[in-house]
Amino acid sequence: MDEKEMFTQNATETKEFAKMLCQQWLEINQVKNSNWLVCLYGDLGGGKTTFSQGIGEELGVEEIVNSPTFIIMKKYLSGKKMNKKYTLYHFDCYRISDSQEILDLGWEDIIGGENNIILIEWPENVKDILPKNRLNLKFEFVDENTRKMIFVNK
Ligand code: ADP
Ligand code: MG
Repeated sequence: MDEKEMFTQNATETKEFAKMLCQQWLEINQVKNSNWLVCLYGDLGGGKTTFSQGIGEELGVEEIVNSPTFIIMKKYLSGKKMNKKYTLYHFDCYRISDSQEILDLGWEDIIGGENNIILIEWPENVKDILPKNRLNLKFEFVDENTRKMIFVNK
């Protein structure tokens, strides 16, 4: 198994890392209208929401991407700087015990749509509905300011 990892020393670096991954994806998918599903594993405080904020910034989303903990999903539109319109879906499945809750939010349309960027915190709670084609990133707390992000094959 090929597992790459990345260390960051503060929240800004984690956002920069997210932006870099997002740029790479945008470049590769410029002439396609595909979706990007990123599963964010790891404990509370690991940096999953911080990472999501970096993605939002890269897409020129005007609002700040916040943890959607109490409402499961938040939807954001990319900003004017993008040459295409993307929709960012940020899921927090921390409180979900049945994947049906995600299906009820229009999951199939989101996953089957075009130019959707889908970020999921606590994806293990909905693992039965996750498509195979996705990026898995695991966030680990090293010390107060250091985080380790691991690309995981699942
Ligand atoms: P999660 O969504 O995984 O629970 P958050 O992104 O909400 O985590 O919180 C991470 C917290 O840790 C934030 O308060 C952030 O400022 C802090 N932090 C400290 N160092 C880092 C780092 N290297 N990367 C990301 N966040 C960090
Ligand atoms: Mg979070």
